Amino acid sequence: MKLPYAEPFRIKMVENIQQSTREQREQWLKEADYNLFNLKSSQVFIDLLTDSGTGAMSDQQWAALMTGDESYAGSRSFQELQSTVERITGFPYLLPTHQGRAAENVLFSVLVKEGDVVPGNSHFDTTKGHIEFRKAHAIDCTIDEAFDINDLYPFKGNIDLNKLEEVYKSHPKENIPFCLVTVTCNSSGGQPVSLENIKAVRELSNKYGIPVYFDSARFAENAYFVQQREEGQKERSIKEICKEMFSYGDGMTMSSKKDGLVNIGGFIALNNQEVFEKASNFTIIYEGFITYGGMAGRDMAALAVGLDEATESAYLESRISQVEYLGNKLIEYGVPVQKPIGGHAVFVDALSFLPNISREEFPAQTLGLELYIEAGIRGVEIGTLLADRDPETRENRYPKLELLRLAIPRRTYTNNHMDYIAAAVSNVYERRNDITKGYKIVKEPAILRHFTVKLDKA
Ligand SMILES: *Cc1c(COP(=O)(O)O)cnc(C)c1O
Repeated sequence: MKLPYAEPFRIKMVENIQQSTREQREQWLKEADYNLFNLKSSQVFIDLLTDSGTGAMSDQQWAALMTGDESYAGSRSFQELQSTVERITGFPYLLPTHQGRAAENVLFSVLVKEGDVVPGNSHFDTTKGHIEFRKAHAIDCTIDEAFDINDLYPFKGNIDLNKLEEVYKSHPKENIPFCLVTVTCNSSGGQPVSLENIKAVRELSNKYGIPVYFDSARFAENAYFVQQREEGQKERSIKEICKEMFSYGDGMTMSSKKDGLVNIGGFIALNNQEVFEKASNFTIIYEGFITYGGMAGRDMAALAVGLDEATESAYLESRISQVEYLGNKLIEYGVPVQKPIGGHAVFVDALSFLPNISREEFPAQTLGLELYIEAGIRGVEIGTLLADRDPETRENRYPKLELLRLAIPRRTYTNNHMDYIAAAVSNVYERRNDITKGYKIVKEPAILRHFTVKLDKA
């Protein structure tokens, strides 16, 4: 008999989680103003809000934590982190930050100014927030295939070179500080970018003298997809692929809460000494001295180990195959999901799931609330709430896709949990025709509204 797949780890410590009743959940949602971010974690049975900072550290990481060096300047833990980052990415200059958006804040303080445009592939929400906060614009150059959830193209995170060149041709060079490549592409469904595409972006950008930076929160998952899907990459190690990928960039911002396998942290890594020196000043104002930048020494020590673990094939296989397992179950039950299944999450297509809910009533949010009521599972809306209003016209922006993201924390849940989630989504799908009313906004902030928006039944 062919042996089935089994995880390359065993469990050393467990955390209890609790079930609740439907009546309790309905009450809690009302108290939370129908915003899943307002729930207490104890009110959630399986938490798929995000894969950010929610994973389990290994015994080796916990051991490293105990050896952290808490010196204010020049700590050994910083040096360990710096040499690990340089070995994996090739970038020699490192600035730790307290998380990914802080890395964006520091780097963009140096590079982005009013009136600039930053082309890229579906910029992440905080990234777009930091660009627009500086009165600059993010221009999405993702390939069109990304917006057809049934298109099986293997690299739906790719940048459309024609769209990118159009941006380069239609704006003066001084107004294009860099092109930003997000690996994997979160907003369009955890979809990877091919090495070939990254290389072509570099060549095109060189032609116009524009730097290339990576938003690299899930760079290891991207490298795994390259290894599995791109021609000629099968025999290469994840670390070799990462090294080549980063060789096409001038620097990166990182949210260590994703492929750093830690609960908090981020960093900027750079090739250019001048950018590093300017960014160092902003790090000191916003984050802390340049050898800790908002991170404890012990957290940098655990991150150094996490980066090595996250770039091992066996770990990535267990990670990506669990997400795929959930996705395939949902496909089996007839639920419309984005295909191919992404790296960190399964994205349910709310527009075809809930055809009776108009876009003004937030179909993906409505689906998220229904799934919580059904089974105590918390996902997150990737749709109109997240897309915010246009900064100038203040009109709602309706993105091409309206998705409910079920993000899977790393090394945290078992496949029994995946079975439970799939059954719950299927139950909501069975009663989809009875769901005829969505939600309306009662109160919202000026930017990044999805975190704090208050809603009520429409
Ligand atoms: C999470 C994330 C960020 C922001 O990082 P935080 O650590 O949450 O501040 C930026 N870009 C991408 C692609 C991300 O996934």
